Amino acid sequence: MFDKILIANRGEIALRIQRACKELGISTVAIHSTADEDAMHVRLADESVCIGPPAANKSYLNIPEILAACEITGADAVHPGYGFLSENARFAEILEDHDLTFIGPTAEHIRQMGDKITAKDTVKKLGIPVVPGSDGEVKTLSEAKKIAKQIGYPVLLKAAAGGGGRGMKVANSESELSVALSTAKAESKAAFGDDAMYMEKYLGKPRHIEVQVIGDGKGHAVHLGERDCSLQRRHQKVWEEAPSPALNSAEREKIGGIVAKAIGDLGYRGAGTIEFLYENGEFFFIEMNTRLQVEHPVTEMITGLDLVIEQIRVAAGAPLSFTQEDVSFRGHSIECRINAENARTFMPSPGKINYFHPPGGLGVRVDSGVYQGYSIPPYYDSLIGKLIVHGKTRNECMMRLKRALSEFVIDGIDTTIPLFVDLLNEQDIINGAYDIHWLEQYLAKPVKEK
Ligand code: ADP
Repeated sequence: MFDKILIANRGEIALRIQRACKELGISTVAIHSTADEDAMHVRLADESVCIGPPAANKSYLNIPEILAACEITGADAVHPGYGFLSENARFAEILEDHDLTFIGPTAEHIRQMGDKITAKDTVKKLGIPVVPGSDGEVKTLSEAKKIAKQIGYPVLLKAAAGGGGRGMKVANSESELSVALSTAKAESKAAFGDDAMYMEKYLGKPRHIEVQVIGDGKGHAVHLGERDCSLQRRHQKVWEEAPSPALNSAEREKIGGIVAKAIGDLGYRGAGTIEFLYENGEFFFIEMNTRLQVEHPVTEMITGLDLVIEQIRVAAGAPLSFTQEDVSFRGHSIECRINAENARTFMPSPGKINYFHPPGGLGVRVDSGVYQGYSIPPYYDSLIGKLIVHGKTRNECMMRLKRALSEFVIDGIDTTIPLFVDLLNEQDIINGAYDIHWLEQYLAKPVKEK
């Protein structure tokens, strides 16, 4: 096992990883920018190293500085968290070259899943269902027309290098195809320096359902059920729950079994998430995230397992501490992402927190890096915490969420808490009847109609 882990991240996820390290008796090293000197992840770490100015590319993304921090402190492994360097294959390789362990999959698996065409081709061969579409890259307009005719309109052009919903364009008919292809290519070239495109059938009203897996890197993997993350704004998840209100246990076992087998066959090491669109009882793969995800706590709440501890164990070469048969799902869990943003306009709201009172009680978990008197710097993403609740049933979970939100006080800045209070009064949310477009449609309605 490792003696000392450097956490190459900040905010709530850096704290989350520290907690797991402490429970394993492992020392922790925090890194931080000059803007984060007062951050909680720095205060609670055993050691900390300032690695640069506020701009992320000069600090949290600065690989030479992170290596130097490992050297100075004698850390033997690095946990990247999510975002920043977590899906950077080159970073994983450089660490291994310096005899440091990257707590995550191999560089090869990160690379394979980072290119969407390769990822889709790989998982298809492993038996995972994918969205009907092109076999690999679509190079010309005539090729695009031919494939679109076969799969039927509407179709979606997607960038191989895509991320954050960029480089994606819908074509409803052949007449729209030429413009869609050229604009998607241009957008992808500008955002990612690469204009390789592929095509998929456009699904009208899918849900976003993802399956959590963890593999030991030796051919064995288990699934930990699904999360429903259909409530999104601009492709950013806002509310996540497990289990999905749309699945029954037979569907869960089926897709979970397919995914666990595929990930085991791949020889995958670490935690990963296979994301699907789900429509009319069918699953369609969209991408794999080769890292811990923001919404991992809902899975922990219904399984009782600590995903970060398991990540650390398998990275150290230990077997998983449980088998598929040991995994059982208990109750229901919902996570709300609390952002420092106005709940109506979504304008970022950095600044000082004058008063902070998190909720508590049975089945309530708050993962947050902020505290009373802390000033949120304007340089990073606006997620300041996550409220996660657990209940025996979905209904109990919703009542508990309502109660917890009513206790939560964050004074001095705007937060997205009022949005969740409103959502809990919506019949579709109460019924669990929403797809990936529901939230944007709801937000577009005039206030009086809500
Ligand atoms: P990115 O990496 O850019 O986020 P994804 O492949 O994960 O790209 O897709 C982002 C989002 O775009 C999905 O969550 C979904 O809302 C939508 N999307 C992707 N593929 C399709 C499709 N075939 N049909 C309908 N919507 C899609």
